[in-house]
Amino acid sequence: MSTNSTRKPFRLDPPLLGAGNPSSREQGTNPGSFALKPDIGGPLTYSSPDTPGMPAPSPLTAWDFNPAPRSADQAVTQLERARLGEVTPQMRRVAEREPHLTAEQIRDEVAAGRMIIPANRVHLSYALDPMCIGRAATTKINANLGASPLASGTDEEVEKMQWSMRWGADTIMDLSTGGDLDACRSAILQASTAPIGTVPLYSMIIGRRIEDLTHKIILEQLEHQARQGVDYFTIHAGVLREHLPLLKDRLIGIVSRGGSLLAKWMMHHGRQNPMYELFDDICDIMRAYDVSFSLGDGLRPGGLADASDEAQLRELDILGELTERAWARGVQVMVEGPGHVPFDQIEYNMKLQRQLCHGAPFYVLGPLVTDIFPGYDHITSGVGATAAAWHGAAMLCYVTPKEHLGLPKKDDVKQGCIAYKIAAHAADVALGIPGARDRDDDLTRARAALNWEKHFELSFDPDTARAFHDEDLDVDTDFCAMCGHDWCSVRISKEIVEFASGKDAEFAWDGPQVSAALTSDQQEILEKRGALDAEAIQQLAGKTRRAMGARRGAQANCHSDTADDDEAHRLQTERIGS
Ligand code: SF4
Repeated sequence: MSTNSTRKPFRLDPPLLGAGNPSSREQGTNPGSFALKPDIGGPLTYSSPDTPGMPAPSPLTAWDFNPAPRSADQAVTQLERARLGEVTPQMRRVAEREPHLTAEQIRDEVAAGRMIIPANRVHLSYALDPMCIGRAATTKINANLGASPLASGTDEEVEKMQWSMRWGADTIMDLSTGGDLDACRSAILQASTAPIGTVPLYSMIIGRRIEDLTHKIILEQLEHQARQGVDYFTIHAGVLREHLPLLKDRLIGIVSRGGSLLAKWMMHHGRQNPMYELFDDICDIMRAYDVSFSLGDGLRPGGLADASDEAQLRELDILGELTERAWARGVQVMVEGPGHVPFDQIEYNMKLQRQLCHGAPFYVLGPLVTDIFPGYDHITSGVGATAAAWHGAAMLCYVTPKEHLGLPKKDDVKQGCIAYKIAAHAADVALGIPGARDRDDDLTRARAALNWEKHFELSFDPDTARAFHDEDLDVDTDFCAMCGHDWCSVRISKEIVEFASGKDAEFAWDGPQVSAALTSDQQEILEKRGALDAEAIQQLAGKTRRAMGARRGAQANCHSDTADDDEAHRLQTERIGS
């Protein structure tokens, strides 16, 4: 008997599970995300399925800690106004920037404490463009800037702020510890359309020892920065005296600047953390301007060996308590997280925070998933950041290649931002956020059609993509230098199948195009790579075109519409050595 007649064509059915197709066009060829179905308005919002043994979401929300909203004339913060049912102009603007959410859904997420809109009322009077941080929204990234006592200044930091926004930073933290801190902060606030966060403790100890810090200085500096327009404060109020003995077995102790300074203060004075003792007063100052909390993780692990230890998790428990207290006083809250965490522990860390902090947005630094790649920590941490966002983090604080080594320069900022845009976007696609994959699908269509111009236009960094392409072959034809004409599977696929994307009128190309001369940015990219000498880069735009006999608007002689495969191959080998 013939086996062919009874054999099922496929032994496996495709796994048609998931949250839905993350492409809003629903034309993808895979069924979508393996994430849970969206639960906007519930504790899961966009969520990965829990590995068995993970902490369950908290059944509580901000409503449970202040069920009676203030009256309309007393409501100041976005949280208080959301509790009254108001859709603020900022919520409406956020809905425009998050097209998968309505303004009412944003209001409800803010009221539940699962989302914040960090928008100081003073900064709103400048140029702030409101955004949100919460797991119902797309994943955000933060870039850290700031002059140190050894390097940089106000102008350079403002330029870095603009540069990091150019590369996709959603919020900026000014972590200056040197130079004129007040002028630098003011200049950044005036110029930034993105929310600005600070660690106010840094300014409190300029010109004095940490031991000389008083309650009065703390409250005055917070009031000053709130009045300047800072949108969120990192306050390390969760590090308690009782936690300090738990650090003795750590490999690297405390790596948070704020955490280490406050630990020193507590040991010197034999008293509790002043940020914890003053917490209600701090809330009242922040509420008056609608400054959001970023509850600092002063005991975050600084190496894999210290991850998820008792000190870290006990501090997280206190951050949960402080979240409740801030909500009770009408203040918006997000919570900061680690740090350096082995890959297998990331989900636990995210889901424990979700439980202890009742879904308040989690803002994590990385985490780095290995410690032995200094110089490449934007990559080690980008790996962890992707997992963190998939498992619940709402904002990722970038790490640059200079992490642990020095103050980031302009190119380090770009590299850090790009690594984190990749992490955030990969998580959004995986979580099944509607529309998250549209640009990926469009780029795939352009790639399938061998439409290089569109391919580059849709790239996150078009200059780098164009420069890398033209470094080897500056003709936009139906192959590239990676495989060459004969081995170009995309070209061959187009020849052998009715490939829908390749025929899409919007993506199809008219034929080979002579690529434009390299821009100065693209030339700079190639100069940095060092693969071509200066003369070759200068001449690049004309060299290969001439070699292949291409004229503006005409096909290169090696294009498969013009020459058969053997002839195309011969021309390539003879004229450009490929
Ligand atoms: S030559 Fe290779 S890398 Fe280039 S387009 Fe074709 S298949 Fe893709």
